[in-house]
Amino acid sequence: MKNVAIVLAGGSGSRMKSKKKKQYLLLGDRPVLWYSLFAFQNCPYVDEIVLVCGEGEEAQCRETFAEGYGFSKIRKIIHGGKERYHSVYEGLKAAESCDYILIHDGARPFIDAAMLERIFDSLRDCPACVVGMPVKDTIKMRNAEGYVEKTLPREKLWTIQTPQSFSYPLIRQAYDKLMLQEQNALGQESRSIRITDDAMVAETFLHVPVKLIEGSYENLKITTPEDLILAEKLAKHYVSDRKENNLLT
Ligand code: C5P
Repeated sequence: MKNVAIVLAGGSGSRMKSKKKKQYLLLGDRPVLWYSLFAFQNCPYVDEIVLVCGEGEEAQCRETFAEGYGFSKIRKIIHGGKERYHSVYEGLKAAESCDYILIHDGARPFIDAAMLERIFDSLRDCPACVVGMPVKDTIKMRNAEGYVEKTLPREKLWTIQTPQSFSYPLIRQAYDKLMLQEQNALGQESRSIRITDDAMVAETFLHVPVKLIEGSYENLKITTPEDLILAEKLAKHYVSDRKENNLLT
């Protein structure tokens, strides 16, 4: 059994409005990306990490994360593509011939061992599982005129996070279909769907059921500057907790 984690750090993070890309900003004294790499490095079920970074950042990432922090599970460092799904596809091709894949946004630092345990537990029964949490707010659909079109039933709604986990052949097949569709649509009036997560690719192209697993409310994605304020606080707690448990010196 071989399990690979694809960690995505190939985005430009334009909504962060900072000179430095958000995945390399410091939380405490460690880069945002360090946190999830640390979780995968210390997860006994994860054999290898494929790190997907921006073009031209490969050598710096190798020096900082594989060599500097000693994350020995990082086997490949490759650059991603224009959209997130292009970066995922590069990661999938680099991961080749494994059993299960976890796809994770490097901009989500606070995944933990218990969450990874729940994911691998669920993969035994279902080849497509994603973490998420019930929404706290009421969600409404807005029409083009800026009025409420519909109020959605809150008790059924979940906000979706990563890692998103799949059997490798399943997600590879779904992504192959997506890329083929994109290729066929080139030069035509684009009718392609907007891809916002990986489960959506499996749902759309293979119609497979996707299981929802409990993630955590701490598993936030750093997107805009105010996310950093909360992330700084969570990072302090994350590091001190791991020091207490002798996982960090
Ligand atoms: O932009 P967003 O926050 O949705 O990106 C989610 C994750 O996907 C981030 O970790 C980002 O670095 C990554 N990404 C990528 N390649 C892209 C766009 C985003 O690896 N082209």
